[in-house]
Amino acid sequence: MPIDATQPYDDNNIFARILRGELPSKTVFEDEFALAFHDINPQAPLHILVIPKGAYVSWDDFSARASDAEIAGFIRAVGIVARDQGLVAPGYRLLANTGLDSHQEVPHLHVHVFAGRKLGPLLAP
Ligand code: AMP
Repeated sequence: MPIDATQPYDDNNIFARILRGELPSKTVFEDEFALAFHDINPQAPLHILVIPKGAYVSWDDFSARASDAEIAGFIRAVGIVARDQGLVAPGYRLLANTGLDSHQEVPHLHVHVFAGRKLGPLLAP
């Protein structure tokens, strides 16, 4: 079910549980600000999720409340993940679903990194 991006943060959402080590993830990167892991249901040959360590529901929540250090750290982490995976030359797509119309399902900010094939038009018809 899509979530409302204005809802309060739910400490028991699935990505909060991954951050606490209560659920497994196929981690590809971790630092002070971010964790990156393979999506459990990949939509491209390479499909990684990058999440901030802090408790933020969505891109909206993060961009409004996160500190400058958290924002810089998270954005840099997304770039590091893409570079580490060798994606700069072939190219990749970033996506951050936010709220109901976007069909965001997990209420903890996550940036999708898609790569590994020609990704086609930006949006489905
Ligand atoms: P969104 O629709 O933007 O909220 O995307 C949520 C993403 O989280 C989907 O692509 C799911 O496949 C992915 N996902 C859900 N649970 C897990 C999990 N335990 N580990 C990795 N990815 C997950």
